[in-house]
Amino acid sequence: MVSRVIPVDTFDLVIFGATGDLATRKILPALYRRDLAGQLAEGARIIGAARTEFTDDTWRAEVRSVLDETLPADLRDTVALDRFLGRLGYVPIDVRGEAGWPELAARMRADVVQAYYFSVGPSLFGDLAQRLHVHGMNTAECRIVVEKPFGHDLETARALNATLAAHFDEHQIYRIDHYLGKETVQNLMAIRFGNMLFEPLWNAQYVDHIQITVAETVGVAGRGGYYDKSGAMRDMVQNHMMQLLCLIAMEPPYAFEPDAVRDEKLKVIRALDPVQPADIVRGQYAAGNGHASYLDDAENPASRTESFIALKAHVSSWRWKGTPFYLRTGKRMRARTSEIAITFKDPPHSIFGAQEGQKSNVLAIRLQPNEGIKLKVTIKEPGPGGMRLVEVPLDMSFAEALGTSDRDIADAYERLIMDVIRGNQTLFMRGDEVEAAWAWTDPIIAAWESREEVPQSYDPGSSGPEDALMLMHRDGRRWREVKP
Ligand code: NAD
Repeated sequence: MVSRVIPVDTFDLVIFGATGDLATRKILPALYRRDLAGQLAEGARIIGAARTEFTDDTWRAEVRSVLDETLPADLRDTVALDRFLGRLGYVPIDVRGEAGWPELAARMRADVVQAYYFSVGPSLFGDLAQRLHVHGMNTAECRIVVEKPFGHDLETARALNATLAAHFDEHQIYRIDHYLGKETVQNLMAIRFGNMLFEPLWNAQYVDHIQITVAETVGVAGRGGYYDKSGAMRDMVQNHMMQLLCLIAMEPPYAFEPDAVRDEKLKVIRALDPVQPADIVRGQYAAGNGHASYLDDAENPASRTESFIALKAHVSSWRWKGTPFYLRTGKRMRARTSEIAITFKDPPHSIFGAQEGQKSNVLAIRLQPNEGIKLKVTIKEPGPGGMRLVEVPLDMSFAEALGTSDRDIADAYERLIMDVIRGNQTLFMRGDEVEAAWAWTDPIIAAWESREEVPQSYDPGSSGPEDALMLMHRDGRRWREVKP
């Protein structure tokens, strides 16, 4: 089944920071892929803006060589690539200077969608917003796209929101959390709210617990300086994992519309209890397997920043009272995987007696790699050997079920950038959501900072520190295996 491609309106998209890592690795390839799929209107244009002194032609040549190097063979198409490069233009700009702005303003067309992607560090967001205003580019219908990190704590997030709000309405601000752009994450909503099957069971009466794991095999080498000021709580939990938790825990919105969905997510964040110190385990990876330790990668031998965190959270609501949400994320772990697992309670009475094969039903939603959803159910083991039970997965890998390949599943950035052009904010975070998430996170961080708590060491290639296993064991539960 090939997905239907509905072309988006003609646009002028300016990428500030067009020569940077995010633009080169994510934004430009995503736009090329949408162009290849036929989703960009004929007159759509992409204007790069950064400090490097490119011309239109030299930037095109640069982008061509990057795409030539990085695109998989089956996505290389000379005609499509030429068409895509023909859309590109470039204006050298220092966000903090004056040069280049009049030229950029002159290039913007009034009668098409105008979008500005802030693919620069957050310290430049204020200057960017201000310059766009001064040069008359913050039209009532234009959109700006901002990346994480959105603030370092509640205070800085509020300041950032206020800075942007000085020149843009909330409906113009697209705060990206690329996890929300993943196919499976949207499928989570389709499964919950498009079927009768799960929603009646989706509560504390039937769900034993929920696990959310985001494990990476990479360390922080190369970006240790940045990461060391942030840590797993700020880098992963406050944004990506919080968003996943919200989508699991939220009440059905009245419609799949931006504010309806975001209102419900906000209620979940506000209903999160403070986390007790005993319910958090922080870790730092040790050296091993030919890799340096976190402390060496961060170039800070005295660092108390965590590269791993596991915690138990509670949502105080009628639906979830008593059902724990276990969150776990770390670097240099055994495998790269992102997964949400909903473990249902056991049947109240087993008519089959105590049987090895009878396990709790688990709905496992895998975000990466191999996006897909699996439901583990108990059935009778085939054959004449009596009533022996066995657990089998009902597997819904999208590729098989829908006859698509992984290639057909749009990358998160492709979907999100198209949503910006379509003017659909459903999969973007609203300012009050981000602030509420910081309001939950800040006291947790402040508590361990005040205790000058040192994270526990864990072996690279493991599932994190021993105490993280204990966090589950003491509740009579186990983490799911971290496997590729
Ligand atoms: P980068 O350092 O690789 O690129 C920054 C870009 O900004 C470059 O093009 C640089 O020329 C430009 N720039 C810097 N100062 C400028 C100025 N004064 N005027 C004009 N241009 C200027 O950074 P990046 O990794 O591409 O990240 C960009 C933003 O995206 C950051 O906010 C980052 O936190 C966020 N982000 C990046 C990633 C990623 O995978 N790289 C992921 C999530 C979020």
